[in-house]
Amino acid sequence: MRFLSALAALSLTTVGSVAISAPAVAAGSTAQGYGGAIATVDATATAAGLEVLRRGGNAVDAAVAAAATLGVTEPFASGIGGGGFFVYYDAREHRVHTIDGREAGPATMTSTYFVNPATGQPYAFDEARVSGLSVGVPGTLATWEAAARQWGTRPLSGALNTAAEVADRGYTVDGEFRRQVTENAAAFGQFDSTKALYLPNGAPPAVGATIRNPDLARTYRLIARQGTGVFYRGEVGADLLRAVAAPPVSASPASPWAYPIRPGVLTAADLAGYRVRRPAPTRSDYKGLTVYGMSTPSSGGTAVGEALNILEASPITSASTVEKLHYYLEASALSFADRGRYVGANTPEPMLRKLLSDQWAKQRACQIDPGKALAKPVAPGPSQCTPSVTTATPDNGMSTTNLTVADRWGNVVEYTLTLEQFGGNGMVLPGRGFMLNNELTDFNFAGTQGTFDDPNLPGPGKRPRSSMSPTIVLKDGKPFLAVGAPGGSTIITTVLQIIYGRVELGLTLPQALAAPRAAQRNTAGIQAEVAFHTTYGPELTALGHVFGADVAEIGAATAIEFTGHGGQLAVAEPVRRGSGSAAVVRPTVK
Ligand code: GLU
Repeated sequence: MRFLSALAALSLTTVGSVAISAPAVAAGSTAQGYGGAIATVDATATAAGLEVLRRGGNAVDAAVAAAATLGVTEPFASGIGGGGFFVYYDAREHRVHTIDGREAGPATMTSTYFVNPATGQPYAFDEARVSGLSVGVPGTLATWEAAARQWGTRPLSGALNTAAEVADRGYTVDGEFRRQVTENAAAFGQFDSTKALYLPNGAPPAVGATIRNPDLARTYRLIARQGTGVFYRGEVGADLLRAVAAPPVSASPASPWAYPIRPGVLTAADLAGYRVRRPAPTRSDYKGLTVYGMSTPSSGGTAVGEALNILEASPITSASTVEKLHYYLEASALSFADRGRYVGANTPEPMLRKLLSDQWAKQRACQIDPGKALAKPVAPGPSQCTPSVTTATPDNGMSTTNLTVADRWGNVVEYTLTLEQFGGNGMVLPGRGFMLNNELTDFNFAGTQGTFDDPNLPGPGKRPRSSMSPTIVLKDGKPFLAVGAPGGSTIITTVLQIIYGRVELGLTLPQALAAPRAAQRNTAGIQAEVAFHTTYGPELTALGHVFGADVAEIGAATAIEFTGHGGQLAVAEPVRRGSGSAAVVRPTVK
């Protein structure tokens, strides 16, 4: 969402504790130029990152500054109560690194964690969501610290102090913010701390109202002073554990809630034992490009990579956009079938390599009939295996945020972070101003693979499978494109469709982001935006594709393309989710 640029300009008076004049905010969804580029969903966050780049910070410094700001202005989709995946291209090393800052479950978690012991049945999603059970150990703060220490040039404290100022001064509610509160008002209304901040006078805040969050400002400053230990081993963590063990349910909820709000079992040892992981990125080669993505516990890297491999192995001979989209939808369905069967936090490395191999792609690609869509759901590979159950993927949300940053030295960050649902489990941690995640509901509550093992059942200390797909694409060993998006499991299809649109359909990057979207996640019906359905529906239906109910929006991506000789094209959504904000340090004068 794009919060008013005027306030963004006014509110950022210091960066890293250095006084600066009010920066001009290059609002707008596309910016072209040199010297550093950034795209986020929010003008205030883009301004924070841009200022760091202008003052000589690198892409990691700017990404951390923007993310800390998003924790204030985009509080339902990100923040230190959540987790995410950070993908970094190091220009000096010519290497892509990743940080897995995904939330981890408690050490005592078993496969029946989300099964109600009283009934033997899995909890309803909302029952599991709004509870202490759904909260995983947050990884976001540990991610910022790891990134800043290893690759940054500025301490994390500077980013936190600057973002604390935004929290103190406040930001303005826009339509998208109000919509997110309205959709979650029942969950938010169960907790006094959430009501006080986001349901003033018992209702969602009006568009144009100012939200200030002094508790969060204090929390950020405390962490800036004392370090992240105060979160993982200190007083902030103790508060978090208390809220998980005894959810601070309001004595007078704003509205009824259908379920008991259950306690969780996270311990101080779970919190203190949290570590980010550094898995090697996934890698696939597509039409002369090298595509690096996020490995497990995300399924993003393998699913996007496998689908691109299938597309490369497919005989796409016609110039027709519909035929190309037919292959896109089929490749996506095939790769989702394999994701469901094989990909979870503990998938062995050789299996991941197999899924990303050209041999695997060939036996999957040969299933695609150029003239007729496969019946969905398709069975997982290898192709000769007998069809079996694969269920529809339930995670349809949009409740995540993404940012893309590049600096003048050619370093690139693609970072996707989330609380899972908008507003996570619904709780603002009392006195601390940030919301807790419900990431553990990304586990499957019961097996989805018939007689086969489900790779995404809960287990001790396990991280739930994600769809987040921060992706960096190299051409001739140099960055060509970086892209990521929110949107539950449509993240995978959105990232895939943008890369495919840019490379195969001949779209410019702004066109590829603006293009109407469709997601085929191995479900009976395609989920499509109305414009996609209207434009391509008749011809795709004639090929045997089936459309489910249309949706207003899929994804809200950000991306940067490297146009050669140091040129950078930063792109955010022009319309979706209230539009995003892209900026460059030295705009090209037209
Ligand atoms: N929790 C989801 C995931 O990690 C993202 C949530 C969303 O974008 O709605 O895949």
